[in-house]
Amino acid sequence: MKRNPWIDVLLVSAIFTLIVLIGLFTFISGDSKFQKSSVSASSPPLESEEIATDQTLAVQMPSDYKGIQIYKEISNDPSIPYTVLYPITEIKKINEEITQYINQAKEQYITAVRLNNNKVISDLDINLNIYEYKNIYYSLVFTKKQAIDGDHQDVSIQTFFFNKETGEIIDSLTLLNHEIHNLEKLSKYVYQKMLEPEGYKENVDIEKWGKATHPKWDLYNRFAVQNNSLVLYYDKGKVANDEIGAPTVTIPLSFINPILAPEFQSETKSDMTIITPVKNENPNAKRVALTFDDGPHETVTNQILTTLDKYHAKATFFMVGNRVERNASIVKEVVAHGHEIGNHTWNHPDLKKLSLDDALAQYHSTNNAIYNITGYYPTVFRPPYGSKNQEMTDEISLPTVLWTVDTLDWKYKNSSKLLPVIQNRVKNNSIILMHDIHQSTANGLDGVLAYLQQQGYEFVTVSELLAYQ
Ligand code: ZN
Repeated sequence: MKRNPWIDVLLVSAIFTLIVLIGLFTFISGDSKFQKSSVSASSPPLESEEIATDQTLAVQMPSDYKGIQIYKEISNDPSIPYTVLYPITEIKKINEEITQYINQAKEQYITAVRLNNNKVISDLDINLNIYEYKNIYYSLVFTKKQAIDGDHQDVSIQTFFFNKETGEIIDSLTLLNHEIHNLEKLSKYVYQKMLEPEGYKENVDIEKWGKATHPKWDLYNRFAVQNNSLVLYYDKGKVANDEIGAPTVTIPLSFINPILAPEFQSETKSDMTIITPVKNENPNAKRVALTFDDGPHETVTNQILTTLDKYHAKATFFMVGNRVERNASIVKEVVAHGHEIGNHTWNHPDLKKLSLDDALAQYHSTNNAIYNITGYYPTVFRPPYGSKNQEMTDEISLPTVLWTVDTLDWKYKNSSKLLPVIQNRVKNNSIILMHDIHQSTANGLDGVLAYLQQQGYEFVTVSELLAYQ
């Protein structure tokens, strides 16, 4: 029997149609799969119609990081141009945080454009860097750049540090083992560290920097662990002028090992750490911190420096700002001899009786005066009469240090009375209060040092003493 040739034609065309249909279906479903993944990447955001434009394109980028996919979202809408790099992790909570951050950035940006009658005034660019630590932790660092007008560009940073196995997002509290003393040590170090690099300290706004480095947990949540170092990030123009961009402070982990929770400590060990600033020896050594307030004084301070040198003693001078400028050469001598300088306000008021602003002005003007002469900021603060303005001490970044032995040298003004008071009260870790504006104190000091040295005491600065405790 012969088949009707029409049946062959029909069969062939049916097969052909089927192939075309399958091909088409595969193409469409492949395409929709792609769209789906790009949508789910930034998905909750796309519900906000302002962000979802037909002219948004998401492209998957190569990723060197296991468990992290990276997408680049580009807006081709000429009225709201932007480029955003965002990661998708295997952890839902982190993806949500990232989405929230990126959406907020886009919304702010689009609002800014809308407010300007849809005239493009800026361009948004969010970049991403990823760092891995110990094969367990990832740091995500987002750098958001937004051009405001022709040549001004805002740069701000957002970070996430997380355990890729447990999904836990780690903040400064966890990093520093929930220990406020650890944060205080870091705070003080970070404050000084920013002022070290060439080209930085001229550009840092010392008041803003002081505030940005207060020992408050949420001020330390923008960080990454990168090349075995902790990197802290600050927005452009917020703590320094624009010249240095978005500043960072980088500290080797081995240096801050003692203040890190054990799981974050670096395997690299270092003899030099944040808690052993100078010496690292006999734990049974006896120490005292000699402190001299209310100077500097043109002759008395110099005599005290000479006596301290004779005993290889280091001390701390709490200086009054308005005397600093008059006695610049002595201030420099104090630093040159390796002593510590403390801030003792501008003109010695009872801070409790001052408003917060006035108390802060006393503090900052003195810091600046000392910096202008020596190139260093004071490292400790002591309120006159030991009378603290609590609101003010909460605000400042330097530790507030009082004393444990008051020699009453200002009252006796008698060199032979200095030693007996100290003999009676001194013990290990005493902080001894004297004043380098009384000749009697300078005259009695040699006897005091001879006695303490014979008793086995080492003479350290206040910061060193605190570091040992
Ligand atoms: Zn005083």
